[in-house]
Amino acid sequence: MPKELIVATKNPGKAKEFRDMLEPRGFQVSSLLDLDLMEEIEETGQSFEENAVLKAEAISHRFGKPVIADDSGLSIDALGGEPGIYSARFAGPERSDEKNLIKVLELMKDVEWDNRTARFRCALAIAAPGRETMTVEGSVEGYIAEKPEGTEGFGYDPIFYVKDKGASMAQLTKEEKNKISHRAMALKKLDELLDEFFQ
Ligand code: IMP
Repeated sequence: MPKELIVATKNPGKAKEFRDMLEPRGFQVSSLLDLDLMEEIEETGQSFEENAVLKAEAISHRFGKPVIADDSGLSIDALGGEPGIYSARFAGPERSDEKNLIKVLELMKDVEWDNRTARFRCALAIAAPGRETMTVEGSVEGYIAEKPEGTEGFGYDPIFYVKDKGASMAQLTKEEKNKISHRAMALKKLDELLDEFFQ
């Protein structure tokens, strides 16, 4: 009998990444695109991990099933870790990738290359009724570029320079990004944890 699992996302790209990993392992995966969740879960945590746990536990409680939730964003050393958990709305309450990216470039305009280090981070939490919630985190290191380059991806990808690739994240193909991204790294760790969680 397949084990049911909900992935707490309305983003079709993310839902597919999770499905691709989980279905071959015998999980029957649904996402918030398939389910009726009227209420917004408020991300009131102080870290990526806390927010992922909040979402996973609230949705697991609501549907009585195992849930995987994520929270991710960009952390820039010269800005003390900002935008961090505020990545999606860094430039204001409405989500605008372009305004967020312009704000970062403006704040970083006098920072020298060596000090422009940053990382994308992704926390994943898995929760189920009656079980202790487990979390993992993945990251990818890079530099904040001086101007946007590339058209792939989303969010801060055009200003995130991946040193190992000699290109911005938005200049990589989807396949290349999916091999090195913070989400890919976190998913790999989650993969190692699933048997323990479901035993
Ligand atoms: P969420 O975890 O999907 O809510 O993502 C939060 C925000 O972090 C997004 O709106 C983006 O601004 C940023 N972010 C997360 N992952 C990525 C990525 O892979 N590339 C670029 N920006 C990202």
